[in-house]
Amino acid sequence: MSMYTIPDFATLRRVLDRLYVRYTPPRRAEGDDVLGTLVRTILSQQTTRAATDQAFTALLEHANADWHRIAHAPTSIIEDVIRPAGLARQKAQRIQALLSQVHDEFQSYDLEHLHQMAPEKARAYLLKFKGVGPKTAAFTLMAACAMPLFPMDTHIFRIFERLRWLDPTLGDEAAHQQMQALIPPDDRLPAHMALVEHGRTLCRARNPLCEHCPILTDCPTGSSPPD
Ligand code: SF4
Repeated sequence: MSMYTIPDFATLRRVLDRLYVRYTPPRRAEGDDVLGTLVRTILSQQTTRAATDQAFTALLEHANADWHRIAHAPTSIIEDVIRPAGLARQKAQRIQALLSQVHDEFQSYDLEHLHQMAPEKARAYLLKFKGVGPKTAAFTLMAACAMPLFPMDTHIFRIFERLRWLDPTLGDEAAHQQMQALIPPDDRLPAHMALVEHGRTLCRARNPLCEHCPILTDCPTGSSPPD
């Protein structure tokens, strides 16, 4: 029998409520420009929030917030501008390719029509862009369009694995589908925000601070001392 089990609703509710008390996450997204949010989310891949903010601000300032200028600038210039976010060459190429594709398709740098799409359709649409995976697509639509999707980053994967809710051998897409089905729509944004904060502060990759954890009693990893 697998050591990983989907929790019952009472357990899920208890865990989320305890995390909400600790981290007081926002309950709903404010909504934002879709294309800008998507570019920012690509920049945020494998880096910190501070580095993302720095690179995104620099990118907008460099081009006067003009997507056309960013799309047509030499890639090496964009790479230099976004260097604080890391993986600068790859991200610069992906952002420019994304902008060109959007412009080719709609003759404008605008993805606001995604607000009107059903969440799964909008998600499938974004997944066709190179460099846009399940997490980036779901986060963009959750943050920009307030869609009830559940993006999972490395912190969330780690916490769910330690709770033994998620089998680590599942692929990225299957894991997103499974956990999104588990988390009620109204909880997806606050659960995402609280879990990311939990992974950054207490349930760290190395030396998790289990003795301070608000969900210790529901966590087999934290409550079973190492042999
Ligand atoms: S008890 Fe430890 S391993 Fe479990 S969720 Fe809390 S910090 Fe993470």
